[in-house]
Amino acid sequence: MKIREIHIYAHDLPVKNGPYTMAKAEVWALDTTLVKLVSEDGTVGWGETCPVGPTYAEAHAGGARAALMEMASGLVGAVAWPLSLNRSMHSLLNGHNYAKAAIDIAAHDLLGKTLGVNVADLLGGAQTNRVPSYYATGVGAPDEIARLATEKRKEGYPRLQIKVGGRPVEIDIETIRKVWEVVRGSGMRLAVDGNRGWTTRDALRVSRECPDIPFVMEQPCNTYQDLEKIRPQVSHAIYMDENSVDLNTVISAAGTGLVDGFGMKVTRIGGLQNMRTFRDICEARNLPHTCDDAWGGDIIAAACTQVGATVKPELCEGVWLAAPYIEGNFDPENGIQIVDGHIARPTGPGLGVVPDESKFGAPVASFGG
Ligand SMILES: [Mg+2]
Repeated sequence: MKIREIHIYAHDLPVKNGPYTMAKAEVWALDTTLVKLVSEDGTVGWGETCPVGPTYAEAHAGGARAALMEMASGLVGAVAWPLSLNRSMHSLLNGHNYAKAAIDIAAHDLLGKTLGVNVADLLGGAQTNRVPSYYATGVGAPDEIARLATEKRKEGYPRLQIKVGGRPVEIDIETIRKVWEVVRGSGMRLAVDGNRGWTTRDALRVSRECPDIPFVMEQPCNTYQDLEKIRPQVSHAIYMDENSVDLNTVISAAGTGLVDGFGMKVTRIGGLQNMRTFRDICEARNLPHTCDDAWGGDIIAAACTQVGATVKPELCEGVWLAAPYIEGNFDPENGIQIVDGHIARPTGPGLGVVPDESKFGAPVASFGG
């Protein structure tokens, strides 16, 4: 199974009721990149990567497309089996996981469609067709976030993530307290996500002042070293998100007991091939984790849902999707949606979604054919 053609598309996704606010970024619109692989027999596979603006991570939309174009001509004629393809990509470009992820996802879609199985089964087998999601609030006023928490609890979300940082820490503490007042006893799990935005001083204070609230502290501070510094002093579980940029870092963080779990993004780790390895490392260490993406449309949402469905259910912290924040779907029939806080996993071959490619216009670049 070899790659005959590679087509790269750019597509704008507007954010509903923007901006969405995080400690270090405001999101008004998304510039997503889609990849279409065509195999020798004409089977098509789709991939996607969508950095959430240029400041959230060391990634941006133009960079994704430049990296894809750097690799694409060398990948025409390459074997599309995911492990082989990942090695081919590494031989053509060092790093740039988030761009490689689009090719890797497209290869899994292509392989699934060729074999007539869905991607969750390619990744070892789905555990569920109803994948739990979680809701992430933006950084907002304490009363507004508490109102959202009530609303999302009633909608059936099993987990809520509160965004904090980028403002006086007293307001973050007030927000956490007000949210706890409305979710306490409901069973809804809480994560407090600093998106790297707190100083270690702020993180220590929050943990000290909220000892009675059982939240997970997700990526509170900027660096791996910051987490090492606060780890012995906080009473809350720590999850790593933005710092877990590759499998090597994940192995170190899991192996040294630095963290109690991960927020993980499929594109950051390099796609589904690396994501299955990450999943298995976490299972070996009994560490819960999410299967998210930064942002994006139906293709990335389907990839996250398929791998999320393979995680041991007690370790699955949920699949976060941008779907509630963006307009429309690429696939008018099987587009990914969150209903009652859960995602119905598409069970068709490959990713289970087929985008209406007329939405994307002409490719920005094509290779092979
Ligand atoms: Mg996070």
